Amino acid sequence: MTEYKEVPMIKKVGVVGAGTMGSGIAALVASAGIPVVLLDIPGKEDRNEYAKRGLERALKARPAAFMDPERARYVEIGNTEDDLEKLRDCDWVVEAIVEKPEPKQALYARLESLLKPTAIVSSNTSGIPMRVLLEGRSEGFRRRFLGTHFFNPPRYLHLLELIPTPETDPKVLEEIRRFGERILGKGTVLAKDSPGFIANRLGVYGMVQAVRLMEKHGLTIDEVDALTGPLLGRPNSATFRTADLTGLDVLKLVTEELAQATGEDFALPEWVHRLVEEGRLGEKAGAGFYKRVNGEIYTLDYRTLDYAPRTKLELPELRALRDLPLRERLAKALDLPGKYGAFLRELFARTAHYTLEKAPEIAYDLVSVDQALEWGFGWEEGPFKNMDAVGLSRVEALFAEYGLEVPELLGKAQGTFYKDGAYLGFDGAYHPLPKREGVISLKALKSEGKTLLEGKEAALLDLGDGVALLEFRTKMNAIGEGVIRMLQKSLEFVEEKGYLGLVIGNEDPRAFSAGANLALILSLAQEGDWDELALAVRQFQKASMSLRYSPFPVVVAPFGLTLGGGAEFTLHADRVQTHAELYMGLVEAGVGLLPAGGGTKEMLLRFTQELAPYEEADPFEAVKRAFQLIAMARTSTSALEARKMGFLRDGDRISMNRDFLIADAKRRVLELAPDYRPPLPPRIRVLGSEALGNLRYAVWSFREAGEITDHDMKIGLEIAYVLSGGEGPAREVSEWDLLDLEREAFLKLLGTRKTQERIAYTLKTGKPLRN
Ligand code: NAD
Repeated sequence: MTEYKEVPMIKKVGVVGAGTMGSGIAALVASAGIPVVLLDIPGKEDRNEYAKRGLERALKARPAAFMDPERARYVEIGNTEDDLEKLRDCDWVVEAIVEKPEPKQALYARLESLLKPTAIVSSNTSGIPMRVLLEGRSEGFRRRFLGTHFFNPPRYLHLLELIPTPETDPKVLEEIRRFGERILGKGTVLAKDSPGFIANRLGVYGMVQAVRLMEKHGLTIDEVDALTGPLLGRPNSATFRTADLTGLDVLKLVTEELAQATGEDFALPEWVHRLVEEGRLGEKAGAGFYKRVNGEIYTLDYRTLDYAPRTKLELPELRALRDLPLRERLAKALDLPGKYGAFLRELFARTAHYTLEKAPEIAYDLVSVDQALEWGFGWEEGPFKNMDAVGLSRVEALFAEYGLEVPELLGKAQGTFYKDGAYLGFDGAYHPLPKREGVISLKALKSEGKTLLEGKEAALLDLGDGVALLEFRTKMNAIGEGVIRMLQKSLEFVEEKGYLGLVIGNEDPRAFSAGANLALILSLAQEGDWDELALAVRQFQKASMSLRYSPFPVVVAPFGLTLGGGAEFTLHADRVQTHAELYMGLVEAGVGLLPAGGGTKEMLLRFTQELAPYEEADPFEAVKRAFQLIAMARTSTSALEARKMGFLRDGDRISMNRDFLIADAKRRVLELAPDYRPPLPPRIRVLGSEALGNLRYAVWSFREAGEITDHDMKIGLEIAYVLSGGEGPAREVSEWDLLDLEREAFLKLLGTRKTQERIAYTLKTGKPLRN
């Protein structure tokens, strides 16, 4: 291999090993729009059998591995005997083959003589030390090699641990970091080359402790999961459901490997081994710590290894904690009376102690430790932030209670691990928190006093450089009166103060906005306050329209759940800057309504405009497309799909990494601002009675076939009426003509008993009712 000179941008990727991880990584790379070569060992009859199977597995995976199945076209498959050549023009080759040193070393030896001199090679190993993998490799190879540890499934788990060796060229690390963060959307964390790296070492330790302490304190699996989930700022899946999802066999393997590599005690109780032997491996096997019996969830009794219906832990003390902010909740959880408190205190003490002892050995700083647990295990705040919340003197007292010595790192802390924008380094000094370029934190802006307007349900913040941001602050960011009022005030503020433009976005982990505040709508309807309701819907419509027609650019930055009214605001932005994970839909029909914040009008307008240049096109196609989207309440499973469905336009852009979303949206405003002019309000061609007749016929046939209920039919007919522009001849109408129809239809449906039942049911259960 010739001397390495520079590090070009990664434009093509190779993945060797098409198993669980390799196929998932390839699907992510392809979803990002990067060509990828996926190789596995040769099959007997079909030489590419294994790689083909890997690709098929990725296409079938649920939740989906590809953001758009069509992106599978970016994946070229092959086998390592006949097709290694295909890797020759790859800029980065990730190895994700069997977890054994010899085959990995043998593969690198072959790659070394084949790849172009600038290519980067990395391993997805979860435990083999880099120095072992690099045995026998040249200096040039070593400089372009590092560990890249993805988590399963690669599309959904944010963490990517990067493990450079002392020989890795800093420019190689920089390029992998850029590509990992920007193109693949991952949160990268630098880890030292130690067993299990950061997240698994600490996360698995905590899991083993939880299992053991459950036995010690006489708790059940249901109790432990109730105590170790959202109460501590961790995912709903808590301890045992997470283990079921990972697979008990994987857990067993990882604990054994960690024990062997570290010489530490990671032993799981004997009964867990029994479950593995009996094939009770968790979700994939249909039974593990939990089991589904006729759609109901049963929980394992680890004393008998039988299952019984799950019991919910209903404690008044727990309920009292639920709505507190995490930091207060954590401290108070440790005060719980009886065995629950005792369990939580000991679990906290032992895991905190281990974290403090190991952090300097596994990470370069404690910030990375927190990020690894937040991004890899879905914790709201990592272990050091947790310790700060509980209070370090309390942490020390807890250590004393369990006979644990005070770790050196704790001795270095002065009051807290984080303070005033700085963190405690392992050297004992406080260092400023690393600025992540291209990341704007709204939380930080608020603490810096950058709030321009503040209400209970929403606020306006200053993003700097003349750009303001409107943030919703309600539960699931539902849109009610307060949000609409703040939106109007914000638009006035931006104009009056001469700001360049507005971003609408927020930092909720799940929901940009779950839609209009249904509880409010239902209570007004039940009180029969129809004038008030008509006014509220009109205000909503005006709000949507003013996003589009304000004299400055408005960029909406959606992510995750973007439903109903949240989708309508998104549709009316001048431009959308969305996160790649976008679950967007006009889902009003599910609650017996139709989109009346401009959503119905907008889809008809968009699809009609799309067809306009094609003289031969049938204009009814546009009506039909909008009808299907709205009547079936279709929701996208990614931003790529949202684009295909018509929710996003060509000028709308996707940020792969949620962390960059707000800053990307701000940049869009700055791009648009210099010569921005609001668009000219369009005239929309509606087809009147002709389209209405066709749609009515379709709706009736669905009813005849028994595919929809009477109430579904009623909703369908109202949607049809709006999309046809009502009865009468084909003609041109204004946007407001259609908005008026939307509003009338909405109020009519809201007046029906069945719609009110649907809303009440959804509010109560979170699910739709088909009545
Ligand atoms: P897997 O068993 O699902 O897949 C491994 C694939 O590699 C198989 O398709 C196999 O046919 C192929 N393979 C084996 N030897 C090969 C060779 N010499 N050349 C080409 N292909 C070969 O394994 P996995 O779970 O995808 O793990 C792959 C790597 O990723 C391992 O190093 C593992 O430790 C690591 N890892 C796994 C996970 C996880 O959750 N499964 C998470 C992080 C890292």
